Amino acid sequence: PSGSEPAAKIVINLERLQQLPAEKAGPLARYAAAIQSQRGDYNGKVLSIRNEDLRSLAIIYDMSPGELSDQLVDWGVLPPEARVARAIDE
Ligand code: C2E
Ligand code: C2E
Ligand code: C2E
Repeated sequence: PSGSEPAAKIVINLERLQQLPAEKAGPLARYAAAIQSQRGDYNGKVLSIRNEDLRSLAIIYDMSPGELSDQLVDWGVLPPEARVARAIDE
């Protein structure tokens, strides 16, 4: 892997995402809902998304992809390994 992208597969904790206040998690929650709808994948507790999607979300949140993945770890939406994997990668 190269650049500042997280190396680990991005697996969003959907239950945790639902518990967060909408002003924080709203854009991510809408993005995840759109992907679920496109896949017809509604019953999961987690959702694997594309690395490319994290880059799009980072633009929406006005952060770098690495900063956003750290934020998502802080929110409990991504597992702590997402932060560790990036630290090793960089
Ligand atoms: P994995 O990718 O490590 O996923 C482990 C489990 O997390 C999955 O078990 C599933 O319960 C859940 N999971 C992960 N991502 C998603 C998601 O986007 N939506 C939903 N609804 N659940 C998700 P499962 O389904 O028994 O799959 C076991 C393993 O089989 C997966 O491990 C993966 O290695 C493979 N697999 C399953 N479906 C696919 C697929 O569509 N594409 C690929 N490439 N591998 C798949
Ligand atoms: P698409 O991008 O044309 O992908 C068509 C099909 O190829 C997908 O159908 C899926 O079966 C497979 N596919 C494409 N890329 C991957 C991948 O990285 N991993 C796996 N396991 N399979 C892949 P599916 O799942 O029914 O999705 C239909 C359409 O929904 C996709 O068409 C795409 O436009 C959108 N979509 C679904 N999930 C995502 C996502 O995580 N991110 C984005 N940006 N779009 C998604
Ligand atoms: P995965 O299915 O294990 O795929 C791992 C990586 O292999 C993907 O990382 C992507 O770089 C590549 N890949 C797999 N299938 C395809 C494909 O059909 N076309 C292309 N161009 N590349 C493919 P990526 O994109 O970061 O996706 C991470 C995970 O997100 C995937 O793991 C899968 O679990 C999920 N995902 C992404 N897009 C889709 C989709 O369209 N439909 C579904 N059902 N799952 C998707």
